[in-house]
Amino acid sequence: MKIETQVLHEGYSPKNGEPRVMPIYQSTTYVYNSTDAVADVFDDPTLGMIYSRFENPTTDAVEKKIAALEGGIAAMCTSSGQAATLLAILNICDSGDHFISSSSIYGGTVNLFAFTLKKMGIECTFVDVDASKEDILKEIKPNTKLIFGETIANPALTILDIEKWADAAHSAGIPLIVDNTFATPVLCRPFEWGADIIIHSTSKYMDGHAVQVGGVIVDSGKFDWKKSGKFKGLTEPDESYHGIIYTEKYPDAPYITKARMQLMRDFGCYPAANSSFLLNLGLETLAVRMPRYCENALKVAQYIESTGKVNSIKYAGLESDPHHELAKKYLPDGVCGVISFSVNGGRETAVKFMDSLKLASNEVHVADIRTCVLNPASATHRQLTEEQLVAAGIDPGMIRLSVGLENVDDIIADLAQAFAVI
Ligand SMILES: *Cc1c(COP(=O)(O)O)cnc(C)c1O
Repeated sequence: MKIETQVLHEGYSPKNGEPRVMPIYQSTTYVYNSTDAVADVFDDPTLGMIYSRFENPTTDAVEKKIAALEGGIAAMCTSSGQAATLLAILNICDSGDHFISSSSIYGGTVNLFAFTLKKMGIECTFVDVDASKEDILKEIKPNTKLIFGETIANPALTILDIEKWADAAHSAGIPLIVDNTFATPVLCRPFEWGADIIIHSTSKYMDGHAVQVGGVIVDSGKFDWKKSGKFKGLTEPDESYHGIIYTEKYPDAPYITKARMQLMRDFGCYPAANSSFLLNLGLETLAVRMPRYCENALKVAQYIESTGKVNSIKYAGLESDPHHELAKKYLPDGVCGVISFSVNGGRETAVKFMDSLKLASNEVHVADIRTCVLNPASATHRQLTEEQLVAAGIDPGMIRLSVGLENVDDIIADLAQAFAVI
């Protein structure tokens, strides 16, 4: 099936007389007809549902759908994108381990990697997104367990050369994990370029409507954990699960099975059935929405570039963008709806511009169905001094514009009247 069909039909196919729409299974638990039957699912949790802290039929249908959209073998939903990133790392990194990340990633992920994981004994080295394979490999240590990057970085809007990063990871015998939130599988499928694990914040385009925070981890099923020899958690007995060896018992998808049976069991950051129902409603229109975001954003970016009132603009769909060639390779159908630009005149002018907008709303969100804006210097990076902002690579006048699905003429008219004010 093509992706427009998959978003509607993967994960759930009702049989004779069953509900057309995947129902909300609002139940914490599941019934078995004997003690032995319960013992059997404890021996092999993939045989049936045990408890809604780590599996649920409504969420299961969404997991199967997202796995199919990404071309993966299995997926596990989480209560947020942050939880997906956390579990994706903890699944293969223990205290004392190290990993490498592109420095062009989401700010929340930087905090997780640079501070919280560090406190837990897991160290991250950040490497420039445009680094060569050789420069990436220079940072590999004996305890390096994975490499991480973002397809389209939030908010830097750089494009990850997935093939190059996957090549570097594989020559070190470790997997590449890609955060594919901004691209979604409609615009880019990182497994086709060599990524091994994908994570998403489904709170963004996947949900689409700004109604439900969520995340997901997808397993390609392709990484050879045994051959690598570096992942004892997958290839040696799990004491917490009566000694099973994930690569032996679940050879198709040992990574995601371990993430569920061990980490989700222990951390419990699983979405509620109702949340997965809402996510599914968003997913059903994903393939129709993404092309329109791209079309609107390209027109808006071209308009902004033409005003002469900005000193920089970042949108890889523009020919002038340094990542345009990478965008053509990895995102031939468009580079999502998010644009960032800096107005001449710094923070004061940026605030004046944003406060003059009538259609676009000021909100701490991105990839909403409605057009919205954020000034990182006044919001997410407010605590920093002007000098610190410069050091962090954040221009105080930078505006992150998330172009929505309104008629593009209305979006441009709104921007034009705000540009007229500055
Ligand atoms: C928002 C975001 C996250 C975090 O997701 P939440 O659902 O907000 O926890 C991770 N990665 C990217 C690229 C994001 O935009």
